Amino acid sequence: MSWFKRVEKGIVTPTEQKKETPDGLWYKCPECKTVATMAEHKRLLYTCGNCNHHDRIDAADYFDLLFDEGKFTELDADMHSADPLHFVDTKAYPQRLTATEKNTGLTDAVRTGHGQLNGLGLVVAAMDFRFIGGSMGSVVGEKIARAIDYARQNRLPFLMISRSGGARMMEAGFSLMQMAKTSAKLALLSEAGLPYISLLTDPTTGGVTASFAMLGDFNIAEPGALIGFAGPRVIKETIGKDLPKGFQSAEFVLEHGFLDFIVDRKELKTRLTDLLTMLGPTAAKPKAGAKSIQPV
Ligand SMILES: [Zn+2]
Repeated sequence: MSWFKRVEKGIVTPTEQKKETPDGLWYKCPECKTVATMAEHKRLLYTCGNCNHHDRIDAADYFDLLFDEGKFTELDADMHSADPLHFVDTKAYPQRLTATEKNTGLTDAVRTGHGQLNGLGLVVAAMDFRFIGGSMGSVVGEKIARAIDYARQNRLPFLMISRSGGARMMEAGFSLMQMAKTSAKLALLSEAGLPYISLLTDPTTGGVTASFAMLGDFNIAEPGALIGFAGPRVIKETIGKDLPKGFQSAEFVLEHGFLDFIVDRKELKTRLTDLLTMLGPTAAKPKAGAKSIQPV
C-alpha cells in the first residue's frame, strides 16, 4: 500500500512554488454565477457577458469610460466635509470621514470634472458609493452646484451620474438643503438653455432621487438599477399593501414613464454622443425670455 502512504519523507514546497490562483483573477457574476476572467470582465466594462448584469463601478471608471483618452480636469478635488452637528453614531463623524478617505482615496461621495466626450465638451459629476454609501452631504451638494455653475459659465452640457443611498444622516438638515440647492442650480442651467442629462445607476435612492437625479432633460438609467425613494419595507408598512415584484428596478420605472431610456454601459458613450449632438444646436442659444447668467 505504498501509494497510500507517503514514501518520501520531508517533502516541503516553498511558498513561492505553490500553485495557487492569485486573488482577483476571476470574476463570478452575482446574478447568473457565470465565471469569467477579470480581464474579460473589465473589457466588457464590468458587465456580465452572459446575463448583462451591470456591476457597480466607481466615479473614476466612468471618467475613464466617457472622457476621450480618459483625460479630464477635476473640479474642487480638495473639498472636505465639516462636522456642523458634532454627530456621533458608532464613531464620531470626523473619524468616520478620515477612515473613509483613507480607505477609498476619495474626499467625498462625488467627483466632478470637465473634458471631451468624442470631441464634445461636457461637465460630469459622478457619485461614488464607496464613500459612506454615496450619501449626499454638504460637500456632495456644493460640488454638484459648482459643477453646474462651471457648465453655465462655459456653456457646456451637464451629466450627472447618480449612485446613492440618499441624504447623509450625519449632516441631517444640511443634507436636505442640498436637494433645494442643486435643484435651484439646475433651474438656472435650464434657463441658460443648456442640456442636463441624468444617469441613474444602481442604486439611486432617497433625497438624490427626490432632487437632481430625476430633474434631467433626459433621465436615463443602467439596466437593472435599483431606483426608488424609500425602501420596499418602509413603503409596505406605510401603505399596508404588497408591492409588485421588481417595482424599484430601472425597467419598472421606465415602463411607468419616469425614465426616457435604459442604456447598456457598453453603449453609453455612443448614446450620449448622439444625444448631445442632437441637443447641441439648441444648447448654443438660451431659451427665449431667459435671464442672462448671473455671476456665480
Ligand atoms: Zn451574469
